[in-house]
Amino acid sequence: MSTPALAGIEPKPIWKHFAELTKIPRASTKEAAARDYVLSVAKRHGLEAVQDKVGNTVIRKPARPGRENASMALLQGHLDMVCEKNEGTAFNFDTDAIQVRRDGDWLKAEGTTLGADNGVGVAAALAVMESTDIAHGPLEFVFTIDEETGLTGAAEFPGGMLKSKYFLNLDNEEKDTICIGCAGGIKTTARRKVNLQPAKGDGAFRIKVSGLKGGHSGIDINQGRGNALRILGGTLQSVMDTAPVEVANVTGGSAQNAIPREASAIVLTKAADEAKLKSQLAKLEGE
Ligand SMILES: [Zn+2]
Repeated sequence: MSTPALAGIEPKPIWKHFAELTKIPRASTKEAAARDYVLSVAKRHGLEAVQDKVGNTVIRKPARPGRENASMALLQGHLDMVCEKNEGTAFNFDTDAIQVRRDGDWLKAEGTTLGADNGVGVAAALAVMESTDIAHGPLEFVFTIDEETGLTGAAEFPGGMLKSKYFLNLDNEEKDTICIGCAGGIKTTARRKVNLQPAKGDGAFRIKVSGLKGGHSGIDINQGRGNALRILGGTLQSVMDTAPVEVANVTGGSAQNAIPREASAIVLTKAADEAKLKSQLAKLEGE
């Protein structure tokens, strides 16, 4: 193996493919070289391969002798990786090979992301694809594109292309865990015309929701954590039901995959309604 950091690591059939993948630039939507690598493995073993129009790839492998009647199963991974580098690291994700290093029991990359997500999954699938000593039924291998920036490969995947009864996603991140279900994600862009008008209120107030835990909008969504945007929305609604206010600004949240931990709004109200507004806010704050 020509990547010293990976020398001697078992099982070799997996790590040799991982080593090759670390040398192949594979930013999201730029997976052509990684796809070619996967196809070259399939071709070497005379396996059928098909691609859809966005570049998702399906490869089929017949059952091992004696397992022909088993249900067809599918191993899936994504070809792209998150491309992040530390400040000051000179690295071009379109051309450079990841510099893998060993740190005790861990594999790490020099100044960049390693691409274990989902390089390890793809490598494991390729190891099974090449294997001659695993008793398996008919298999399909699916390699999708652009998981990291919006799952567009999976979204574009054409219906009717797969024959498998079982689908195993090799992109789980929990050790010693088998995940038997999965939530999806939807990115929504909402637009609404707003009618701007000169402020009539006497005083401006900033209503701020903060001090929340935040977290990953997928992994932590079952923790019952507050969403600052929703709390702010509910607060504004409740305020408007109590006293007439004008909304000058609403802002909050920082990333589409993070539960918003802060949000704020600027509202204006007449001097006569100020006390009502404040007591309503105090009540909401208590809640
Ligand atoms: Zn992944």
